[in-house]
Amino acid sequence: SKAKLFDQNTEVKTTFKDVAGLEGAKEEVQEIVDFLKFPEKYTTLGGKIPKGALLVGPPGTGKTLLAKAVAGEAKVPFFSLSGSDFVEMFVGVGASRVRDLFKQAKEKSPSIIFIDEIDAIGRARGKNAMSGSNDERENTLNQLLTEMDGFGTNTNVIVIAATNRADILDKALMRAGRFDRQIFVDLPDVRERKEIFEVHLRPLKKAKDLDLDFLSKQTPGFSGADIANVCNEAALIAARQGKKAVDKQDFLDAVDRIIGGLEKKNKIIT
Ligand code: ATP
Repeated sequence: SKAKLFDQNTEVKTTFKDVAGLEGAKEEVQEIVDFLKFPEKYTTLGGKIPKGALLVGPPGTGKTLLAKAVAGEAKVPFFSLSGSDFVEMFVGVGASRVRDLFKQAKEKSPSIIFIDEIDAIGRARGKNAMSGSNDERENTLNQLLTEMDGFGTNTNVIVIAATNRADILDKALMRAGRFDRQIFVDLPDVRERKEIFEVHLRPLKKAKDLDLDFLSKQTPGFSGADIANVCNEAALIAARQGKKAVDKQDFLDAVDRIIGGLEKKNKIIT
């Protein structure tokens, strides 16, 4: 089968109510929703609508979710690809994929382009010069910059990129008219973890002994993705035992399992 060039979702169902916590980030991206919905409101006074925003934060904190919610709220199509897909790509493929992506997004405008793990293509040039794929990565990056610079004033495509390594990004990406807005997406605090639990508990059959405050306190350092995992894992643990509802003990077991997984992951990294 033909390799997928990028993901395309013309009817995004995700909205801000699916994104728990992240109040500051949601407020900032609300402006992007507004630009997409009412561009004339901004352009009549001669202003230029921003082309790009960079979501910066640790893995699993909801960057992809938030970008998708922007598309859902504005009711515009969502085009996405991941920077890591470009690693080990044949010469010329990366740049032409970027070209196709922007072409499609412009045809369907207003629209959102989302580039996850932009650091994989947007690393500062010159680093890692020994690797053979470096030229291809640079071609891809250059194509991305060319596309963004080529947006006309009424293109109405907004590019949202995500990274957990803003420090290694090529400064050219952050120049005015490119990803000149940075939005921070942090790990949730205890109150935000509770809100994330609430979102992911919605589809579960819950036992009466579940205590959200307790669970939120038991999970410091957990990302939204970790919490989503805990909820799903708890449901599976309960089901395996033939229970009718997911109870407190299932959650504690799930938390233990996720912590075990996190520790393993960290061991491999260090
Ligand atoms: P990565 O950097 O690894 O790509 P990310 O920041 O893009 O991660 P997402 O892919 O958006 O994270 O999050 C993964 C999943 O975790 C989401 O689909 C959602 O189920 C859950 N999740 C993460 N953050 C939140 C949140 N703030 N509210 C609700 N669910 C969340």
